[in-house]
Amino acid sequence: MQPNGFGPPGGFQPPSSQFQQMNMGPPRPGQPGPTPISAPGMAPVMSTGMPGQPMPGMPPKPGMPPQMSGQQQMPQMGGMLPMSQPMSQPGMPPRMPGQSPMGGMSPMSQPGMSPRPAMPGKMTSMPGMPPSPNMGMPPQPGMPQQPGLSPQMGGPPRPGMPPMGGPPQQMGGPPRPGMGPGAGMGYPQQQRQKLDPDSIPSPIEVMQNDQSLFDDQPFTTDKGAVPPACTTKIKRGIQDAGSCSPKFIRSSLYSLPATSEMAKQTQIPMTLSINAMAEPELGEPPVLLADFGDFGPLRCKRCKAYVCPQWRFIEGGRSFQCHLCHAVTEVPQHYFQMTDHMGYRMDRQQRPELCRGSYEFLATKDYCTNNKLPDPPGFIFAIDVSYNAMRTGLVHMICEAIPKILDSLPRNPETGECPIKVGFVTYSQTISFFNLSEDLSQPQMMVVGDLEEIFTPLQRGFLVDPDKCKENIEILLGQIPQLNPQPAPDACYLPVVQAADLAFESCQRAGKLFMFHSSLPTVAAPGKLQNRDDRKLVGTDKEKFLFQAADKIYEKVGKDLVAASTSVELFLFPSQYVDVASMAHVCHLTGGTLYRYPFFDINKDREQFLSDAIRAVTRQTAFDAILKVRTTAGLRAVDFVGSFYMTNTQDVELAALDADKGIAIELKHDDKLDESAGAAVQVALLYTSVFGERRLRIHNLQLGVIGQLADVYKVAETDALMNFFSKLAVRSCRDTSPQKTQRRAYSKIFKYTRYLSKTLRRSKLYWPADPSGKTQGYASIYELLMNVKSSCAYFYPCVYPILNTALDPAIPKPSLRCSIERFKQEQVYVIENGLQLFIWIGQNVTPNNVQSIWGVNSPMEVPDALPKLETAENSTMNTLMSSLATLRGKNLKPIIIRCGHPDAKITESRMRRLMNEDSKGAGTTSYVDFLVHVHKEIRQLLS
Ligand SMILES: [Zn+2]
Repeated sequence: MQPNGFGPPGGFQPPSSQFQQMNMGPPRPGQPGPTPISAPGMAPVMSTGMPGQPMPGMPPKPGMPPQMSGQQQMPQMGGMLPMSQPMSQPGMPPRMPGQSPMGGMSPMSQPGMSPRPAMPGKMTSMPGMPPSPNMGMPPQPGMPQQPGLSPQMGGPPRPGMPPMGGPPQQMGGPPRPGMGPGAGMGYPQQQRQKLDPDSIPSPIEVMQNDQSLFDDQPFTTDKGAVPPACTTKIKRGIQDAGSCSPKFIRSSLYSLPATSEMAKQTQIPMTLSINAMAEPELGEPPVLLADFGDFGPLRCKRCKAYVCPQWRFIEGGRSFQCHLCHAVTEVPQHYFQMTDHMGYRMDRQQRPELCRGSYEFLATKDYCTNNKLPDPPGFIFAIDVSYNAMRTGLVHMICEAIPKILDSLPRNPETGECPIKVGFVTYSQTISFFNLSEDLSQPQMMVVGDLEEIFTPLQRGFLVDPDKCKENIEILLGQIPQLNPQPAPDACYLPVVQAADLAFESCQRAGKLFMFHSSLPTVAAPGKLQNRDDRKLVGTDKEKFLFQAADKIYEKVGKDLVAASTSVELFLFPSQYVDVASMAHVCHLTGGTLYRYPFFDINKDREQFLSDAIRAVTRQTAFDAILKVRTTAGLRAVDFVGSFYMTNTQDVELAALDADKGIAIELKHDDKLDESAGAAVQVALLYTSVFGERRLRIHNLQLGVIGQLADVYKVAETDALMNFFSKLAVRSCRDTSPQKTQRRAYSKIFKYTRYLSKTLRRSKLYWPADPSGKTQGYASIYELLMNVKSSCAYFYPCVYPILNTALDPAIPKPSLRCSIERFKQEQVYVIENGLQLFIWIGQNVTPNNVQSIWGVNSPMEVPDALPKLETAENSTMNTLMSSLATLRGKNLKPIIIRCGHPDAKITESRMRRLMNEDSKGAGTTSYVDFLVHVHKEIRQLLS
């Protein structure tokens, strides 16, 4: 289609879009408000070299798709004037983007051209690991004594496992010969009424016992050592003994069964939960950089593993033997070093790659797309300016917040420069791009109306240096809330994502799109969605569709994004139904995040939003990343679960991977493992840093191998196992249905109980958080990306009593079981699960206590924001809040529950959903009831 009958100059098709350019600037005194710059009927416009002359504009017509009309739809620009640049005139021949004398703009994609050329391969030298026979491993030191044995096995209890004494004699313990699985449960139905919740294993007690083990001793990452629970604060730190910290990789088993037959019998999958970009905690050293200069890191000639502490240097240091595939490779001259009488290199302690479990390399050009070192990434901020976003004050809030977000962007510690380039887009039924070039005295706006075949009208001036172009950015942000006095009733969604992707691709940068969106995208454009909140599907085989994107195009665009290394951080501010499962699919595939502010209220959500947005730009992030797992011969990574996309069965492609995201991997046997040699895993993450450096981050994990079935349970780690199962359950809900997933889970539990009923404790907790269908999209997305620390808090929320407790708010440890029946009316509790935070004020809390925490006289006056007072109670609360913010990486907005107040019912019912030991109303069960129920299911399976 050629709009307005204009033929293209130069013999190629013009964009089928309407396309306008406008200058922006602060209103000048004495000038009237809206001043359109190009006239109706104008084709894509660029400068004509003539002085500007305002033309009568047409106000936008809400609800009218712009491309349906022969007329140009003119966005109205309140208080804006055409300024320094010449403007187009009616009757002038159209110019194509790119031909303009103004600022050298050129189209990023053109009609008739494939919207996205195929991306060349990103990596040149990470071939897969060829299968190799066992060649015999060098002798390894014996397996150290394992700290933290499970209670049943004579050691202290571990989280998720019942402690000794009392019911565990029925509940826990290894199977007894001749005992049926049901027998291990010990909860016959007739006992149901008599069950005392206190007689049931307490996770709190388990956490406290684990903590006490590491109160005054460090954890050393020796081969096969089971790490502390992720709720445990290791006060004396983690000592890297050549195997990586559990914060980077947690394994479900720290010693693997020697054979696949044994592994099948245990029914515990061999899984790794990887948090490759985890950030150092306060006082912890960062991951060290190993320097190989232009040579690039040393690698095994066969399996391409990277140099690591487990390699054995032989022949006086002239060769090394790979610990994974056992191949012998010659040491290149530049890396030669003599070995000592023990066979260790003399420089072993000086090189992180020879003594640490985790380290980084600077990658050479060989590791870059097109052999070209990358540029630092770009960030695009896309603001929904449709009616709903304007009405709720969202647009205003975003424009106020962006300068603070920009101030938080990472900076070079030496020069203070910000490496990241930023760009801005506003959208509703059209998409506006802004030229913020420092050469311009004010921003220019370009409007693209054709959403079917999106292109980006700007090449230069769109992604700019946030410091150099600060002035224009400020002008723009001041103008955006006034841009559309008559905002369109709805907004598109996917075309904005596509436009950002094209923009990053055209400048060959990895990037992040920060999208601030308010409603269901109902505009006639790709990715248009409708309300599909069909309660009738819940509980049927079709329920899985509620977990999937409604339109296949979301999958396609998601893959395009991964190919161009663009990830999407979606901030949703809905006031009514939105199709989260569809819209967040692009986040899911690209390692992005979904943030959701239901029933958006600017006053209540502002702080939380700002905290989330600042965390999103400041946390450690790997861009344009590929994750590769290599294992000891005899093992193989067979399944990968999380938020990413895989083009083949081995490489996890990540447009981005940040410190808050986890990936779970399942390992299987290819062959028998050698008990004396143990097993090893090497995870390599090739990525571009925020400063544009191509880096390789290596994590090595050393595991034991055992031949006795019963010993396997001593080295199981339930936190990692739960993390894996939760991700698996979500994926299963998408593929089959929640019901089938549940049935599978029962069957799985049944199998465990044959051997190990302690697993039961956590199994209860891994259903989707809200199977009612209301929030399953959100919950499932969160569960897919959780790291182990997040999944622990998510499945067993933390409860902290505030008044008269021994709580150390600086190192908060939950001290109350997750049941509201244990709450006391004279107490104040903080309850949080990493996503939500409640402050529950009992009905009998004294005015004195309210005064000492909040400085007000009654619970009814308690403000949302906590003041700073000179009292012990206030200080406890403030310290706890900041500790939790550090722990979770963000401020959680407190939801205050004032017991006795009529409004408390609603908020308390929200909190009750977190109380995992309680029944949550009709159709749900308490923890005790659940155990009885599972028992029944298992009996049925047996019969
Ligand atoms: Zn090798």
